[in-house]
Amino acid sequence: MAGPKTLLVLENFINGKFVPCPSYIDSYDPSTGDVYCRVPDSGKEEVEVAVTAARDAFLGWSSKSPQERSQIMNKLADLIEHDLEAFAQAESKDQGKTITFARTVDIPRAAYNFRFFASSVLHHTTECTQMDHMDCMHYTVRTPVGIAGLISPWNLPLYLLTWKIAPAIASGNTVIAKPSEMTSVTAWMMCKLLGRAGIPPGVVNIVFGTGPKAGRAIVSHPDVPLISFTGSTLTAQHIRERSAPHCKKLSLELGGKNPAIIFEDANLDQCIPTTVRSSFANQGEICLCTSRIFVQRSIYNEFLKRFVEEARKWKVGSPSDPTSSMGALISKEHLEKVKNYVKKARAEGARILCGEGVDSLVLPTGNQNGYFMLPTVIAEVKDESCCMQEEIFGPVTCVVLFDTEEEVIKRANGVKYGLAATIWSSDVGRVHRVAKRLQAGLVWTNCWLVRELNLPFGGMKASGIGREGAKESYEFFTEVKTITIKH
Ligand code: NAD
Repeated sequence: MAGPKTLLVLENFINGKFVPCPSYIDSYDPSTGDVYCRVPDSGKEEVEVAVTAARDAFLGWSSKSPQERSQIMNKLADLIEHDLEAFAQAESKDQGKTITFARTVDIPRAAYNFRFFASSVLHHTTECTQMDHMDCMHYTVRTPVGIAGLISPWNLPLYLLTWKIAPAIASGNTVIAKPSEMTSVTAWMMCKLLGRAGIPPGVVNIVFGTGPKAGRAIVSHPDVPLISFTGSTLTAQHIRERSAPHCKKLSLELGGKNPAIIFEDANLDQCIPTTVRSSFANQGEICLCTSRIFVQRSIYNEFLKRFVEEARKWKVGSPSDPTSSMGALISKEHLEKVKNYVKKARAEGARILCGEGVDSLVLPTGNQNGYFMLPTVIAEVKDESCCMQEEIFGPVTCVVLFDTEEEVIKRANGVKYGLAATIWSSDVGRVHRVAKRLQAGLVWTNCWLVRELNLPFGGMKASGIGREGAKESYEFFTEVKTITIKH
């Protein structure tokens, strides 16, 4: 255990200032199992102060021109990029992800989120229609909603938090944001840059703490009219119930159980490494990760052999080692939960082809108590098994075979989630046909995670409500009004 003197202690950021909190919670380094940081355990009182600050800042911020807000946001992106390495090191230590992933994905994207919305906010137009026979014209105006409550998960901490803060403030709102209590450090680091970028006090307030306490206080506050949440489907249920009496605007980005469909005409040289990556990137802790792989019968054996060979090449090791492909899972409890799925699959008669319980995990001396697990591939598992139905959110993927296009569409759609899907085929007609019928908000064909931020992002069914993107986020973070003029 780290001594108390070495602990990093975070503070809330309210009205442009760091403020201590009466109580704190421990935050662990997932790669060692040691407590290394203390996070404010905020509740109603802290949220109340943040709401007052956000309310007071609203008029000034919403009155600025989009150009002024855009300039400030670009400056913030510059500052994050300038400190990219420090942010990447912190994200890797706090979350357990590899330094390579934090350096190449999380932090560049966090900076880019500000740049993207700084640019897109300059290009929105509103509508106007004429009714000449009535001597009338009608037009719409958009205004910021007010104080936005933003709640994000632990898997892509700064990346997902900034994906909400950026569109909210670009459109003139002020915000109260809460990152996951397990991964709060990079949000706290960003607070140090807000004033330097020119963001006025009270525009971005960050309140740290747990979901049931700090999160709930944000969601239940009557003066926070809009909640943008990314996290689990279960938490979203609580949020919907709590916010319903206040008729809040909600954006919910939730879990997934994403299929990859591999047809016999797929280019396996491209498909196999990409599908290994889509299954295990960020320890499988991405809502878009593949966890059900449907392979057509004629290529099933070859696919399985090559897929397992490729998965075994992934090195699990210290997150700070640039040669590690996978780091540690977020927490001890989560590691246990993920391992339990593998146990259940084994008990049901499925075959574990590599990873957990099959291969041995060799870790550096300093990481023996960390929350590590090997990439694990399960075959011969039934569609109704919990491993094929529930979101595991770890480095576990199931491979099953199918015969026909019609059959695989039905089976791929046979879960409660509908976030993302991947199709591998060289038949253009089939790719369009299948993509159209899959119940998923995002479908990648012959690739994975190629993101176009302009276009809608989000899920169907239990994977969420609403979409995020240039136009969608702008519409969510603004209210539209139709004005009629008789002349
Ligand atoms: P979680 O739902 O446990 O927590 C998410 C956030 O909600 C955290 O900040 C947490 O403190 C807060 N929270 C928890 N209970 C709350 C409550 N009662 N009221 C208000 N806030 C509360 O999710 P997690 O375990 O942090 O993240 C993993 C989940 O997030 C997975 O299901 C994953 O699929 C999902 N996710 C979805 C997307 C997407 O874009 N669709 C992206 C990343 C992660």
